[in-house]
Amino acid sequence: MLFDILTLFPAMFEGAFSDSIIKRAVEKGLVSIGIRNIRDYSSDARHQTVDDYPYGGDAGMLMKPEPLASAIAAARERFRAIGKSPTVVYMTPAGRLLDQNIVKELAKRETLVILCGRYKGIDQRIIDKYVDIEVSIGDYVLSGGEIPAMALVDAVTRLIPGVLGNMDSAETDSFHSGLLSHPQYTRPEVFEGVSVPEVLLSGHHANIREWQKRKSLEITRERRPDLLDRHCGD
Ligand code: SAM
Repeated sequence: MLFDILTLFPAMFEGAFSDSIIKRAVEKGLVSIGIRNIRDYSSDARHQTVDDYPYGGDAGMLMKPEPLASAIAAARERFRAIGKSPTVVYMTPAGRLLDQNIVKELAKRETLVILCGRYKGIDQRIIDKYVDIEVSIGDYVLSGGEIPAMALVDAVTRLIPGVLGNMDSAETDSFHSGLLSHPQYTRPEVFEGVSVPEVLLSGHHANIREWQKRKSLEITRERRPDLLDRHCGD
């Protein structure tokens, strides 16, 4: 999977991608993450302007279309050179709410360009002309698309074959089967007077699977009945 992230704040990604699973995925060559500073694509070499006042008189600034179009063109060119046509994702509160289905869908694409907005957002003509999918990470407003982009890259990377040591650990995560995950326990067997459920110590795999499935259904019914409706409808 090749990611190309377009941002005004490249340094924000340094820590997020230099540890743990993403770091290992990059080292194994399963994932490559390019970070592009949109400011480098400003035609105004002196001030590197990337924003301007919105038409209509709203307060705040908007990201100008020209540097964004040039940055997207450069990312596309990088992929075209290796025979790939990327999916362009814009992180925005107005997008489709990110869920595991979208993550699975995006994990199948080989190349993703992820556009991080700032200020009041970006000129609509960039969305209309260049963006394939708009994605939101929740019904709240962040200052920029960088944290949403990190969430997306992390979630997609976990699904790339070979990234997780044992693919089972993605398969038993919440949402993989459309339900929330069952509770998990590790040693010690008794912690502050509370024991691990008996069935997990039994070594009886069928009973354990059945318990996990039942707990998963119970938790989902209690916390996210909307997921259960969808799960049963599938
Ligand atoms: N004016 C925009 C609106 O009301 O939809 C919000 C702009 S926000 C301050 C700046 C940027 O942060 C957006 O362009 C987007 O890239 C990013 N952003 C903020 N909240 C987000 C969310 N919930 N999901 C995805 N991206 C978000």
